[in-house]
Amino acid sequence: RPGVETGATRVETHCAYCGLQCAMTLSGSSAADLTVSPRRFPTNRGGLCQKGWTSAELLRSPARLTAPLVRQDGVLREASWDSALTVVAEAIASTTAAHGPDAVALFGGGGLTNEKAYQLGKFARAAVGTSQVDYNGRWCMSSAAAASIRCFGIDRGLPFPVTDLGSAHAVLLLGANPAETMPPFLTHLHRAAEAGGLMVADPRTTPTAAKALDGGGLHLQLRPGTDLALALGMVHIAVTEGHADRRYIASRTTGFDELWTVAAQWLPERTERVTGVAATTLRAAVARLARARDTERGAYVLSARGSEQHASGTDTVTACIALALVLGLPGVRGAGFGTVTGQGNGQGGREHGQKADQLPGYRSIADPAAREHVANVWGVPADSLPGPGRSAFELLDSLGTQGGPRVLMVHGSNPVVSSPDARRVADRLASLDLLVVCDVVLSETAEMADVVLPVLQWAEEEGTVTNLEGRVLRRRRALSAPPGCRSELEIWSELARRIGSPVALADDPREVFDELRQASAGGVADYSAVTWDRLDAGEALHWPCTPERPEGTPRLFLDRFGTPDGRARFVAVDHVGPAERDDAVFPLVATTGRVLAHYQSGAQTRRVDELVEAAGPMFVEVHPDTAEAVGVADGSRAVVVSRRGRTVARVRAREDLRPDTVFLPFHWPGDGRANSLTNPALDPTSRMPEFKACAVRLEALP
Ligand code: SF4
Repeated sequence: RPGVETGATRVETHCAYCGLQCAMTLSGSSAADLTVSPRRFPTNRGGLCQKGWTSAELLRSPARLTAPLVRQDGVLREASWDSALTVVAEAIASTTAAHGPDAVALFGGGGLTNEKAYQLGKFARAAVGTSQVDYNGRWCMSSAAAASIRCFGIDRGLPFPVTDLGSAHAVLLLGANPAETMPPFLTHLHRAAEAGGLMVADPRTTPTAAKALDGGGLHLQLRPGTDLALALGMVHIAVTEGHADRRYIASRTTGFDELWTVAAQWLPERTERVTGVAATTLRAAVARLARARDTERGAYVLSARGSEQHASGTDTVTACIALALVLGLPGVRGAGFGTVTGQGNGQGGREHGQKADQLPGYRSIADPAAREHVANVWGVPADSLPGPGRSAFELLDSLGTQGGPRVLMVHGSNPVVSSPDARRVADRLASLDLLVVCDVVLSETAEMADVVLPVLQWAEEEGTVTNLEGRVLRRRRALSAPPGCRSELEIWSELARRIGSPVALADDPREVFDELRQASAGGVADYSAVTWDRLDAGEALHWPCTPERPEGTPRLFLDRFGTPDGRARFVAVDHVGPAERDDAVFPLVATTGRVLAHYQSGAQTRRVDELVEAAGPMFVEVHPDTAEAVGVADGSRAVVVSRRGRTVARVRAREDLRPDTVFLPFHWPGDGRANSLTNPALDPTSRMPEFKACAVRLEALP
């Protein structure tokens, strides 16, 4: 069976970075000689990106934390585990005694394994008793999730295996740049690209958009924040130009008439005016999708963060789904709608209870039956479980305020770099009575902490994750735990014991997974028939996977959607545009994103020399005309200023960028922190901040 020996020769596992979870083999007997090689697997087809190839570097990095740190006299100093945990446990106990359990908060991450995502929620709600728990996935998949639940009744990023895309002749990507974020994903788009059917809606000519153009496909270079208008305009074209699937709309959906009251207003010319995308291009894109559908050659619409990270993100994805529904794609073999999950366990991370509004099994925390079920599994009264808490940004923004949390534990996240309006968040973190950060390196958030607890990395422990297509995978241990480091599972278990928790928390991943399965039983994301042994045997198990359906569900919605009547819902949504408009003082729109060599806040990848060299320093992409008007030269350093802060970056002049737009990657801290600029305006449903559009001006560096 696949490698399970510690300190052994070959271990089959998956990359720890993004949601594609590429399969790899680790070979070697120590961190010093561990090598990575790609493994054939449906999602990556034997490929890895540069981040995956270099993923062993952090295991042997000198930047690795190997002992707890406790702040004394303003300085972080090494401490024993016992004394560090004593500081944390006493702070939790005294704070809850004096101010109530909601004065303690937990902040999780979409990279945590399924077991950790589950246990973090249980530690918060059953051991501490706080409602104040949320995670960085709120800033990643929450709009896609909210829209999918609204329209389909179920949120699973790709409701079909990613390999289904491989035969498609037309794929429309809305705000997705897999050529940089998850390059092996592109292998599934080759057929579409070769057929001239790869279409990319993005304000930038990303490498993905360039690939589309190279193959004769389309680049819909929209103005940032107009994705919703773009989708409605395409719905209008589909309906008025004979591409709508009337039979599908009648038999598998509800609400079309309501949607049409809005979409009817989005004439191609109006859509062109608002989005900047030519009506001819919009027509060509819709016709291309319809042709692939009609010839049964596969047509898909996929969204990602570019269209989702907006204050109207839920409505935007709702409109993207409406486009797919009008064309009759979702729930049909060889066609569909999906969202491309970003973080390593971005799918599993949002299913097991680390979200402010959720319990394990993707259950609503407000649902009495869900509370009863989970309380039974945990062995606590249902009425002892707290209700919903604050969403990620609202939680961080409330720290240290009247009635807000005074103690915060951060796991698998670096909000000082990754949160919107990051300077404001850093100020709030500084106001805490106690900040505890569990991480593998001294991230920028850990630098501010009172206690830093060094934790194990992906190749040093066992676990499971769920990839972007809802398939549960085994992460395997290749190395022994380094002395001085512990798993988060051990930390929560020990803290629960020390604070006198009414429940004991297991610290063995397999034991936690078995409990997670019970807690998920009957929920939307039902793992009850996914066993550790079946995963070890290499079975492909996509949730829901139940005793009644032990083979799992690779394709959702083929017979019915997850709504009460089994039909997908059109919802009437309309374009409102970014929460912050450009004006004479801030005349440009800044949008943010990622580069090939770095992952998220860069806490890991900025410590890998090869990746640092490949990515170069922080930069801002600017159209040459804009650069000239401002007086900044290509290659010079410039300042980008928003209503919230400023960022210093090296100018990269790009002819293929919109003149009204600048682009900044968000991987760097300090002066080069893109999120010093971003707008924390929140989506009313998902509470997603507006990362992808804020008003800025560009200045030459004095
Ligand atoms: Fe694959 Fe993503 Fe890892 Fe790259 S970062 S190797 S695309 S899982």
